[in-house]
Amino acid sequence: MQPYRLNQNEVLEQFETSANGLTDAEAEERLSRQGPNKIEAHKKSPILWMFFRQFADFIILVLIVAAVMSGWIGDLADALIILIIVVLNATVGFVQEYKADRALEALKKMAVLHSKVIRNGEVKDLLSESLVTGDLVLLESGNSVPADLRLLEAHGLKLDESSLTGESVGVDKIAEQILEEHVELGDMRNLAYKGTTVTNGRAKGVVIATGMNTELGRIASMLQLKESDTPLKIRMKEFGKKLSFFIILICFLIFLVGILRGENLVAMLLISISLAVAAIPEALPALITVSLANGARRMVRKNALIRKLPAVETLGSVSIICTDKTGTLTLNKMKVLHHHIQDGAELENIPLLWLGVSLNQDVQIDANGQMMGDSTELAMVTEFIQQFGLEKHQQLRATFPRSLEIPFDSERKLMTTIHRANEKYLVVCKGAIEAIIQQSSIRPELSSELQKIADAWASTGHRVIAFAYKMIDALPDDKNKTSLESNLIPCGLLAMMDPPRPEVLNAIDECKKAGVKTIMITGDHLLTANAIAHHIGLVNERSRSVSGKELSAMTEEEFMETVEKISVYARVSPEQKLKIIRTLQKKGHFVAMTGDGVNDAPSLKAADIGVAMGISGTDVSKESADMVLLDDRFGTIVSAIKEGRRIYDNIRKFVRYIMTCNSAEIWTLFLAPFVGLPIPLLPVHILWINLVTDGLPGLALAGERAEKDIMSRPPRPATESLFAQGIGLHIVWVGILMAGLTLGVQAWSVHQKMENWQTMVFTVLAFLQLAHALSIRGERTYLFKQGIFTNKWMIIAILFTFLLQLMVIYHPFMNRIFKTQPLDLNQLLICIGVAAVLFHAVEIEKWIKYLIRKRNHSM
Ligand code: ADP
Ligand code: MG
Repeated sequence: MQPYRLNQNEVLEQFETSANGLTDAEAEERLSRQGPNKIEAHKKSPILWMFFRQFADFIILVLIVAAVMSGWIGDLADALIILIIVVLNATVGFVQEYKADRALEALKKMAVLHSKVIRNGEVKDLLSESLVTGDLVLLESGNSVPADLRLLEAHGLKLDESSLTGESVGVDKIAEQILEEHVELGDMRNLAYKGTTVTNGRAKGVVIATGMNTELGRIASMLQLKESDTPLKIRMKEFGKKLSFFIILICFLIFLVGILRGENLVAMLLISISLAVAAIPEALPALITVSLANGARRMVRKNALIRKLPAVETLGSVSIICTDKTGTLTLNKMKVLHHHIQDGAELENIPLLWLGVSLNQDVQIDANGQMMGDSTELAMVTEFIQQFGLEKHQQLRATFPRSLEIPFDSERKLMTTIHRANEKYLVVCKGAIEAIIQQSSIRPELSSELQKIADAWASTGHRVIAFAYKMIDALPDDKNKTSLESNLIPCGLLAMMDPPRPEVLNAIDECKKAGVKTIMITGDHLLTANAIAHHIGLVNERSRSVSGKELSAMTEEEFMETVEKISVYARVSPEQKLKIIRTLQKKGHFVAMTGDGVNDAPSLKAADIGVAMGISGTDVSKESADMVLLDDRFGTIVSAIKEGRRIYDNIRKFVRYIMTCNSAEIWTLFLAPFVGLPIPLLPVHILWINLVTDGLPGLALAGERAEKDIMSRPPRPATESLFAQGIGLHIVWVGILMAGLTLGVQAWSVHQKMENWQTMVFTVLAFLQLAHALSIRGERTYLFKQGIFTNKWMIIAILFTFLLQLMVIYHPFMNRIFKTQPLDLNQLLICIGVAAVLFHAVEIEKWIKYLIRKRNHSM
């Protein structure tokens, strides 16, 4: 029978489990049978196919055909070597793509969620992937339902099923058996489906399906989820198309001019096609992905888990960080320092304030006395136990059993519980002082007295929680639940301290230097927020602090005008967070925003970089975020920004390197006939330079360390092109300079009647690339200041390429293949010297750019 129609005992029986859950051994056995509880998003393309796809490119096909043809009519060895290099080229492309794929897979695996599961009668925190049917799962507000569940208990449980049904209205769930026979999926109200989220309440359920057997799995197997590219990759692909067109045009011109000059037709065909293959930056998109994915891997070691790859690329553009206070800027280690008891009312010989502490909270204490829960509540319960003992705590909870609760949310800023007290019911409510006063029926003098005490504590950075109570005769029905939070009698205040994290001061300072503004957004009191903000250097004389109330009183225009001056927002609701983001974005800012609650999901999605909390955050917030802070620390955002800037810098570096190389090859072959020189290079030379000389140092550039000024320059505009800041120009002029130097060497050696002039040309062009790689390691820093040995892969790549080139020049076998002849020492030194000229030219470019920047700065 279908699980929704069974009663609770029957469900447990059907899934061969009990109220104590499964045993570990049984669960393990089931796991090996059922497989992990996860959705396999899409089938991977087979590796072999990935390899052959490398040849599917039109221009490469043309080259292969041309090579085969030329081998047929002419030199077989020539054609063969071209084919070998093309295969090597494809292998490199394949390795890149494969690595990109693997890195993305690895990234996906890291984004794992946990669930609270009952096994062997104990509550455990397990990876959601390890759930099996029969497991008992506990749900609470903010959780993502980890598998399909039949509910056994449900307290005010409301689920958001929009991920499954598209319907965004929350659905109330129940634990009772449903007897009707044919009900729609949406009406099986005692089932909770994997992938939906808990917006309210608590529940317990037994797992009835996992992984691809769940409703979500069934849908996922119908649609093959396609992954989207990063903005950078999309732009690169688009640009690549335009560029290919241009390159093919030029190669065609080179071909035409050659024919007009009376060169051999097949030779010209091979040259121009090889050039096209070499100059079209085929591998760049895959290289960019590898670079971003590697960046994400490095970031996770620093506790920043990237959930969406584009975030790596855009982190460097963040100009504003909107951050939570509690736990992010502070240690989240609260301690109760003061209390105030309002009236003398007592129950069970204990003031109502303290009774409230014991009853109104969700802290769980396990068998070892370990407490788990919200830090604010932990602090209060700890204080209670210190004053009255654990026994008293447990006795009170038994005497006044909880019959109803309205959980805390950051909108109301209240939490209410209702307890049986003899024939009556005790309502305990705790929360923000204004919220409590608003719901109380007391004399104005009294409320202002309370407010004064609270303000005094708040202005020294304390977090203040107020308590109130009332007695009622009967439980209200579901619709009148809100009436519980009214006509309350305040019974006291607690003040607790949550010290700022020591490293936050530096991190905020670092942000300032990097042109990134930090804004605190908190649900806490304005005075508390301000005191902390001052302490960590987040505010100065000019910055303003605003409370949620003031914010909602402002008109759109007023807010637009002041938004850039505000550094602290207090007592804001999640909706207002959204308003703050939107307004900042309208002002042209690129905003990172932290969030931990269920209600924060919209702001996390709206922010350019949504940041969730790994420790204290809800599943919902994690799933909406671009990045998760595994340690909840503000400093982690800052180091992620730094890493993001570095990665983007390096992508620029290797794009610049590879494109300049290609540009040099093009110019050299294009210009040669116009200055009356013979064809400078053979197809194998061109392909060799593209494969080896271009490839290895290019890869090494991706591992370059951060330049010293990386956190002292303003953020990069998010829409800035990859070729901005003079890179486009650089590609052209350095390409022309390299071509000029190469053709100069060619003219000179032809003039000197050197037998081996072509080897000179080949070698000079290769060495020029290496010199270029060295000088663009720093975009703004002089190489010798940056340190030659700071990137050991670069040194290895350059030495290795250099040695390979020497082998091509001096080894007899290579001489035959590459049609080269040995150079004498003088010739070799000339090649190196010419390369040194280029190196200095590029360093001078850096210097000129520095002078221009300085002038613009001082103006
Ligand atoms: P933040 O995380 O920005 O510090 P919260 O939204 O968590 O702020 O809390 C806002 C206010 O709600 C707090 O200042 C406090 O008065 C109240 N509050 C916080 N946690 C609880 C709780 N567990 N129960 C009742 N009230 C709470
Ligand atoms: Mg909070």
